[in-house]
Amino acid sequence: MTPNSSSRRATIIAMPLLALSLASCQSPTAQAPSTPNAAEPWNWSEDVVRAAVNQVRAGRDLNPRSWPGGARVAVLLSYDVDNETVYGLRTGDVSIGPLSQGQYGSRVALPRIVTLMDDEQVPATFFFPAWSLKLAPEQAGVIQRSGLHEIAVHGWIHELNTTLDGATEARLLQQAVDAIEEITGERPVGYRAPSWNHSPNTLRIVRDMGFLYESSLMHDDRPYELVQDGEATGVVELPVEWILDDAPLFNPRGSSYMNPRDVMQVWIDEFDKAWEERTMFLLTMHPHVSGHRSRIVALEGLLAHIKAKGEVWFATHEEAARYVREQAGMD
Ligand SMILES: [Zn+2]
Repeated sequence: MTPNSSSRRATIIAMPLLALSLASCQSPTAQAPSTPNAAEPWNWSEDVVRAAVNQVRAGRDLNPRSWPGGARVAVLLSYDVDNETVYGLRTGDVSIGPLSQGQYGSRVALPRIVTLMDDEQVPATFFFPAWSLKLAPEQAGVIQRSGLHEIAVHGWIHELNTTLDGATEARLLQQAVDAIEEITGERPVGYRAPSWNHSPNTLRIVRDMGFLYESSLMHDDRPYELVQDGEATGVVELPVEWILDDAPLFNPRGSSYMNPRDVMQVWIDEFDKAWEERTMFLLTMHPHVSGHRSRIVALEGLLAHIKAKGEVWFATHEEAARYVREQAGMD
């Protein structure tokens, strides 16, 4: 996931989609809401406000009493392998220079990162827009070589899913899963939305396609069950956070750039609190961002800190989702 400039556009167009969603997904006791007027939310009725908020909420806390081996904290490392998809393909604004930064992701950064993970024997989950893998399918072999890691799905072409109608969004995700399975030989069980947002249709699509877990939302630091329009879904959420994403702070041309070693300290502080609270530390990185030499130093420092602290369970997202489901009696 990397930030995109379309979030404002997505917010503006979300309201007609919300209206459609409300028409088909009301809870049994809700009154039919009047059509929301996006320009005057202060005039929305009680039902409209509650229906808007209740589209997707956090349900029960799924943080286990302890993690496997009696560990205090689960450490889940995500890599969103966006590559060329976020350098023009997702918007159609293609330009050769930015696309070269995308190919750096598959050509240099991903092998460097996987080598580090394998040397450290630390499992990770790699979320792919299908086109990132189709353009450089050799990435699958690099990741699968150790048997430690998971490959999950991150859209078709990092499409701006909040701008799409439900049928198109569902078609693209189905295509993406099929394409990834064809290349890797394994069907992904985890979903992460491109640009970390849901359209009014996303969760329904995720449920219909039978994903084991979802990892795009931010209701908690701990794993939890997603609730849709008041109904428990059985879908495990492994939440993300912008604080725990490398892209915003590592953009050398952005206004929030930070020294990689300072970013490492933010990650260490987040980890230490998770360790104290006995919860979960989920960090999202991107090969095309964190796979550069100066950033690998920060990642190495983080791993050294985590290992020195001890009582840690390193896991893929799939392993964590299966464990919390079992502990919560969801299966
Ligand atoms: Zn992404």
